[in-house]
Amino acid sequence: MTEIKMNYRNILNTIPDNISLVVVSKTQSVESIKALYDEGHRHFGENRVQELVSKVTQLPPDISWHFIGHLQTNKVKQIVSIVHAIHSVDSLKLLMEINKEAKKAGRCIQCLLEFHIAEEESKFGLTNETVTVLLDSKEFKSLENIRIVGVMGMATFSDDTEKVRSEFRKLNEIFRYLKEKYFSQNSEFKEISMGMTLDYPLAIEEGSTMVRIGSAIFGDRNQ
Ligand SMILES: *Cc1c(COP(=O)(O)O)cnc(C)c1O
Repeated sequence: MTEIKMNYRNILNTIPDNISLVVVSKTQSVESIKALYDEGHRHFGENRVQELVSKVTQLPPDISWHFIGHLQTNKVKQIVSIVHAIHSVDSLKLLMEINKEAKKAGRCIQCLLEFHIAEEESKFGLTNETVTVLLDSKEFKSLENIRIVGVMGMATFSDDTEKVRSEFRKLNEIFRYLKEKYFSQNSEFKEISMGMTLDYPLAIEEGSTMVRIGSAIFGDRNQ
């Protein structure tokens, strides 16, 4: 625990004050999360619905949970009343489901649009084309229980820093384009969620406002 706390403080020291840190606690124990909660940290990220639901019941209620993994529409219902933000919105269908369940729960959920910026095929996310269709649709305009607060992306897992940098730059360009075209009147649209353990310094250089860091704090995950 002492080591986790030390890692956490060291990471915090490398992140400018105007950038938020989401501590990615997937696969980590409730005790490890509690250790950082006791340090004053409140924003944690999880990528599996079951795991999130189980952790929420075991930890203090004032934690802000960020859902960062691929989300299936049939699981939205389980998380709408507990999440602070969903970083992984990659379709209109998913957004409409979040809206529907949020309405039932009497909530308005912060959502980030996830973009496919990496080379790897397996990663989920919107493209320049699909996001335009989504944001121009009349269905999107009718959603009242979601708020689009920014964009999210994951760079290619690579030590080619110029490649990684150019992917982050691409996400920043997408953000600025969307801001101008769709969200110029919306001051809430301001987050660029990018940067993980290996690439967050690059992401910050390229304009990240929110980094999601796990293994640099907790150590390597086995899964
Ligand atoms: C696991 C994960 C992270 C954190 O990864 P680390 O390399 O452990 O910092 C960030 N974002 C997403 C979407 C993840 O799934």
